[in-house]
Amino acid sequence: MKELSQKVSSFKDSIFATISREAVENQAVNLGQGFPDFPGPQWIIDILKSTYHYEENASQQYAPFAGVLALRESVSRQYLNKYSIGYSPEDEITIVNGATEGIFCTCLALLNPLDEVIVLEPFYDSYKSSIELAGAKAIASTINLPDLSIDFDHLEKCVSSKTKMLILNNPHNPTGKVFTLEELSKISILAQKHDLYVLSDEVYEFLTFDERAHLPLAGIKEMKERVITISSVGKTFGMTGMKIGWVCANEKISHAIRLVHQFNTFSVHHPSQVAFAKVIDQSDYYLQQFKETYQQKRDFFFSGLQKAGFSPLKSEGTYFMMCSIPNGLDDVTFCRELIKSKKVASIPPSSFYLNSDQGKKYIRFCFAKKDETLSLALKNLS
Ligand code: PMP
Ligand code: GLN
Repeated sequence: MKELSQKVSSFKDSIFATISREAVENQAVNLGQGFPDFPGPQWIIDILKSTYHYEENASQQYAPFAGVLALRESVSRQYLNKYSIGYSPEDEITIVNGATEGIFCTCLALLNPLDEVIVLEPFYDSYKSSIELAGAKAIASTINLPDLSIDFDHLEKCVSSKTKMLILNNPHNPTGKVFTLEELSKISILAQKHDLYVLSDEVYEFLTFDERAHLPLAGIKEMKERVITISSVGKTFGMTGMKIGWVCANEKISHAIRLVHQFNTFSVHHPSQVAFAKVIDQSDYYLQQFKETYQQKRDFFFSGLQKAGFSPLKSEGTYFMMCSIPNGLDDVTFCRELIKSKKVASIPPSSFYLNSDQGKKYIRFCFAKKDETLSLALKNLS
């Protein structure tokens, strides 16, 4: 038999899939992969149910390939009302199968073989794979632990004549970092100086804690034209299985992204798009509560970990918490030990790094779980 494509030869099962499997095998409390273990809000389920009355509506057939217009309009209104950023629903917003497809289509649409893309490590694993599937190369600069600082001199040294794009994730998975205006301004200056595109993955935009505001990169002066903003419904509405996301970018970039999307998945689940157009328009009150609920979970889990003798980093945003490893083991070994002996699954973050060893000293917990689940995990850990 002939060889498989070289493109996938270095790919493995993701760490999320691996840990979820080991959690099931060991009957461990799963604080690994990022998803809630409780159902989404009833008001959203009601909207979904009414939209799934297939005999009563026309959404049984393919949706328009750029996405249902009503959803693009809701997304556009959201950017305008929340952040004063204007995106045209017709030309600048494309609906995709979750942020992951948006990241993939953006990489394919913008990158040529041998281009370089700067990623801030630790990074969501799909960045490197999407960059490589486009034939390009990821170059990493590190977000330092535990202070979450960025060495901007190093970041600039990563730029070469081949650099075409930088990928930012804010709020940041897995560290829980929320970027300040000063940091975003520095990234903007760098992008403008070196004429870089910036893919800004903002899927945790509504999970910022302690009065921190989410600042979309496209809202920074003169950045909108070079920023590709990506978000999705999965995290915001506690329904990661919905897989509806969007990519917002200027008309030229959006057109290129739509061309890739057209020959990839080409169309996203139609009735769910109709439903989420309504959900987004009605979400203001929910989003406030959502933030408060998750901040309570963060506080509960943070103090519980401390009482159990761990040293967690208090997340500024997202539903993840990094925690340093108390006994000198590396992250993969420690994670396996926790799954087997304490029946608690977490994610070893070293696979989210290209350069630094810092990730070997930490594990990542997901606290998007019922209070009973978090209590059980804490009991097991203490
Ligand atoms: N970006 C980040 C930083 C993530 O953590 C995730 C995981 N949910 C995604 C993108 C993927 O989002 P989606 O489920 O919408 O594809
Ligand atoms: N983003 C999720 C996490 O960080 C995982 C999504 C996936 O499995 N690819 O846990």
